[in-house]
Amino acid sequence: MKFRRELDPLKPYNPPWISHEAKAERGEGDYVKLTANELSFGPLPEAEAAISEALPRLNRYPDRHAAALRAAISGANAGIRPENVVVGNGSSEVLLNLLQLVERPGEVVFPWPSFSLYATIARIVGLEARRVPLRPDHAVDPDALLAALTPKTRAVILCNPNNPTGTHLKLEEVRAIADRLPEDVLLILDEAYYEFVDDPSYPGSHELALSTQSVVCVRTFSKVHGLAALRVGYGLAPREIADYAERVRFPFSVNLAAQVAAAASMGAPERIAKRASFVIEERTRLQRALDEAGVEYVPSQANFVLAKIEPAVFRRAGVLVREGDALGYPGWSRITIGNSAENDRVISAFSGR
Ligand code: PMP
Repeated sequence: MKFRRELDPLKPYNPPWISHEAKAERGEGDYVKLTANELSFGPLPEAEAAISEALPRLNRYPDRHAAALRAAISGANAGIRPENVVVGNGSSEVLLNLLQLVERPGEVVFPWPSFSLYATIARIVGLEARRVPLRPDHAVDPDALLAALTPKTRAVILCNPNNPTGTHLKLEEVRAIADRLPEDVLLILDEAYYEFVDDPSYPGSHELALSTQSVVCVRTFSKVHGLAALRVGYGLAPREIADYAERVRFPFSVNLAAQVAAAASMGAPERIAKRASFVIEERTRLQRALDEAGVEYVPSQANFVLAKIEPAVFRRAGVLVREGDALGYPGWSRITIGNSAENDRVISAFSGR
């Protein structure tokens, strides 16, 4: 068998400290798992009830087009019609489906460090990845991003807020990038963490998906909705892009439990907003403790904080964080905001309090 040479450098995704993580997930050992930017609470009761109600129907394939879920998503985003909604097996699949649409050969441009899946997907679908360094203050540099475009650029991915730094661009800054991009370049705005933004100058960017022909806003149920295990994400897109994305999507990639639970969760915006507020308050508490301890960190608008503390400091205290080594920040840790008790443990690990 002759494999495509460009697949050789790929490695299966392995979470850090895999055996400890497995134990933490099973509730064994005394570890708290703050590695993957998940929510520390389970799904909303509405979502659990919807899954129970759907169980007797597991013998049937789910709705191929996830119509009820797409309707729930359009209902929650002013001006978005169900025809503008793309769904996927996690926002990971939405990202894959979008990059499958552009012409090749070609390249995908994105700030770096950012979410590692962008480079992986680019490689899988046969596109080159062009990484544009963040500014010294760890924020995305819009001018450098635009300056990196070449005639081969097919897509730009902007993670806003950015993973792993938690920095964000304001809506005006994102709009300025969209305005300056050539029309045939797809702009993907990855808003996996946008619900955790408390800066009023960034209310999310879905209006850009309505006012342009080449901007897609990608979101997920894996973070604030607490449904990471179900694997469901979505995109808000101009109609033609949504139509093409549905052509390449694997049939039934969003399963029945995911469809009904995500729709139920989308239908409870006040409760979801409350969870986001909790995370934001706890993020403030953690950042204050980092300030008091004199630790360098990047002020975050997401449900994690990147801090200049060796991951071993946390591991010794039974706290699993994402090692900065794997994220382009050696010697740093990306700490997911957990529940109050988990965050207490984080704080006492570095402050001794
Ligand atoms: N985008 C970003 C920026 C992420 O951090 C993640 C998950 N870590 C994803 C997308 C993918 O999430 P999912 O496939 O679970 O929706």
